[in-house]
Amino acid sequence: MIRTLATPDASTNIAASGANLAEFRLLLANSLQKSLELHETLATFFQMLHRSVRCCGMEYRMPARDIRLAIGSHRAHKVNYNLHNGNFAVGELTFFRSARFSEKELSTLEELLGLLLLPLRNALLYRDALESSLRDPLTGLGNRANLELTLQRELKLSQRNRRPLSLLIADMDSFKAINDTYGHTVGDQVLQGAARVIKQALRDTDQVFRYGGEEFVVVLANTGNSEAVNIAERIRQQLANIQFQTDIGEIQATISLGVCTNVPEDDRDSLFRRGDQALYEAKRTGRNRVINREAAEIREPAV
Ligand code: GH3
Ligand code: MG
Ligand code: MG
Repeated sequence: MIRTLATPDASTNIAASGANLAEFRLLLANSLQKSLELHETLATFFQMLHRSVRCCGMEYRMPARDIRLAIGSHRAHKVNYNLHNGNFAVGELTFFRSARFSEKELSTLEELLGLLLLPLRNALLYRDALESSLRDPLTGLGNRANLELTLQRELKLSQRNRRPLSLLIADMDSFKAINDTYGHTVGDQVLQGAARVIKQALRDTDQVFRYGGEEFVVVLANTGNSEAVNIAERIRQQLANIQFQTDIGEIQATISLGVCTNVPEDDRDSLFRRGDQALYEAKRTGRNRVINREAAEIREPAV
């Protein structure tokens, strides 16, 4: 059964459930104000709910935003709620446990859920704000700030797990000429198309970012140098072979890519520098090509 729970109206009599519940509501309301992070907000609710209505698990879903969070475990009995704060849908929650929920427990649960609606809405808005601060509005790709965070994290992981990390630094060829010939709007459409092509040429675990105007960076975790070169070549070919649909008709464009793979001595700057040098070389030697820059120059000389 799915129940719908919306913000309780002001006349709801909270005192009816007794003084202890009223105190507990206050404590819960305060605790739920401590974080704007969605997972933390839900975890706090679940932990505190336990003191009043025992549950073995809780699952939160927001299909429209592709969010699913689970705490604890599934059991035979469950109760579902569709949650709303005013007109704002704040997701669906399911509670699980081995024994059936009594009517009294359900009414307590619903009272407490009423306290979660606004914090949940705030957490979703916070999540939206955070996501949009890390996303490029034109292409929908991660932006430069996002790239820097990702790169820091992936470099640490790669060093800890002794797994290779490769980067592709890509720059559209003669893009100024596209703008000058067809106008900035058409240039934007080509950029959007290029972002789509790059994304489609990648695996699910690869991450692509718009680094600047017509520059993209691809972070390839757990990827050695020769595989990275293959991926770069695939992007180059697919882009060169496509006709971008724009307001003034079909347009062709090409991209140059620099490839680099980290060595233990690398930090963000040394790795990036090699990728940049490779890209520079690709431009210098004619564009629409992939140049690979291995880390030979920073390896210790053999004794
Ligand atoms: P190269 O092959 O050497 O990279 O030549 P290029 O013309 O691409 O290089 P340059 O850096 O001289 O020019 C990049 C151009 O990209 C200039 C700028 O107007 C354009 N550009 C940057 N950001 C955007 C954008 O968001 N939209 C559009 N339409 N153009 C952009
Ligand atoms: Mg450029
Ligand atoms: Mg360019």
